Amino acid sequence: MSIYEIVIIGGGAWGCSAAMNLSKRGKKVLVLERGYLAYTQSGHTSAIIRQFYSHEETAKIAMLSLRYFKDFKQKTGFDAHFRQTGLLVISDDSESIKRTVEVLKKIGAKCELLDKDRVKEIEPSISLSNDEVFAFEPDAGYVDPIATVWGFAQCAKGFGAQILEGVKVKKISRQKDWIIESDKGTFEGEKVIVAAGTNTPFLIRDLGFNLPIYLFPFPMCYYRRPYGAKSLMRVIFDSTNNYYARPEGESEILVGPMHDEMTYAESSAIAVDKNLYWADKNPDWIGRIDFDLSSAYSRALSIRFPELSEIHPSRDFVPLLDVTPDWQPIIDELPGFDGLFVACGSSGHGFKLSPLIGEILADFVISGKPPSFARAYSLSRFRM
Ligand SMILES: Cc1cc2nc3c(=O)[nH]c(=O)nc-3n(C[C@H](O)[C@H](O)[C@H](O)COP(=O)(O)OP(=O)(O)OC[C@H]3O[C@@H](n4cnc5c(N)ncnc54)[C@H](O)[C@@H]3O)c2cc1C
Repeated sequence: MSIYEIVIIGGGAWGCSAAMNLSKRGKKVLVLERGYLAYTQSGHTSAIIRQFYSHEETAKIAMLSLRYFKDFKQKTGFDAHFRQTGLLVISDDSESIKRTVEVLKKIGAKCELLDKDRVKEIEPSISLSNDEVFAFEPDAGYVDPIATVWGFAQCAKGFGAQILEGVKVKKISRQKDWIIESDKGTFEGEKVIVAAGTNTPFLIRDLGFNLPIYLFPFPMCYYRRPYGAKSLMRVIFDSTNNYYARPEGESEILVGPMHDEMTYAESSAIAVDKNLYWADKNPDWIGRIDFDLSSAYSRALSIRFPELSEIHPSRDFVPLLDVTPDWQPIIDELPGFDGLFVACGSSGHGFKLSPLIGEILADFVISGKPPSFARAYSLSRFRM
């Protein structure tokens, strides 16, 4: 049995980005993916790339990742098909929108508050109310998520990484090195990264460690764009009505809910509500949205954009997210388990962070010390 320096469990955006960054730095890397690449969240994501976060560390990581996406072809040799559309944020909570614009200005990302007239220049047929406030992030957009994961993976292979699809990891245990048992045989690694999305807490639980992650259904619905309609050609966050939307190519619009991103409390450890854990959930569950929800989105869109009143749903699904109590990721070496790293809890916004998450993981795993960016995502912030 050959021994790898690093075995990565999970061929999503995070696992493949880590594989690329580690193999680029000369490490002998193996990725084990139970399905095909981008099998779960990374293949069912809206893939919106933006920096609009009130959490400063996440905003910085998003900013550096966005730059990477713009240069993706040059960096990886493959195309992520980044479409820069800009992001228009609409909210009736002026304090929160102003706070986030300030964070972006502080870190050097472009973002500005707009008045109604400027919004109308960007989206001429939009309907706005007087008590709403607006911000615009011009650099935001979206990518093709599967092309992105493929790009990371192909680039990793070019640097010598081995990527095995159709290999389901069953158990991780420690002897001299880490032993990874799967349905296709046993593998050995000096270090392991578990980047298995919603399955990460289950793989780790068998080692007697409970990660503070719960599983959260996150619907997504596609609509046919009415013929000739020119509205909504950019990413929209409509916090007033609690949905986001973006164009999907020329003929569709993709819509999903805004989630309740909690404010990160730096000063105190965040209590973990154990009742929210995964215990009664299947990490591979995938659902459908009901007619009432798809109609609610259609109504909200047609009020905001009267031109879209004939909008009609075309397809939908409801994957699960792996969410932490503060809706920020976990990137850490598991306390008491030298050489075992977890990269999970991407909490519904991890795709855009994937280029930097891969770099952070590579630094952490190679040096054994958390790089500064990883500190905001350490397990120690939770009181478990
Ligand atoms: C509907 C929806 C919309 C979203 N929109 C956005 C967005 O607009 N922007 C954004 O930035 N983020 C968004 N996200 C979040 C983003 O998709 C995720 O944060 C990101 O894809 C997580 O990547 P990952 O590699 O951590 O996990 P995953 O993509 O879930 O990858 C985990 C991989 O591990 C594999 N695996 C699991 N168990 C095993 C095992 N036992 N053995 C081997 N392999 C295993 C899985 O098959 C999977 O391929 C959205 C998510 C959803 C569901």
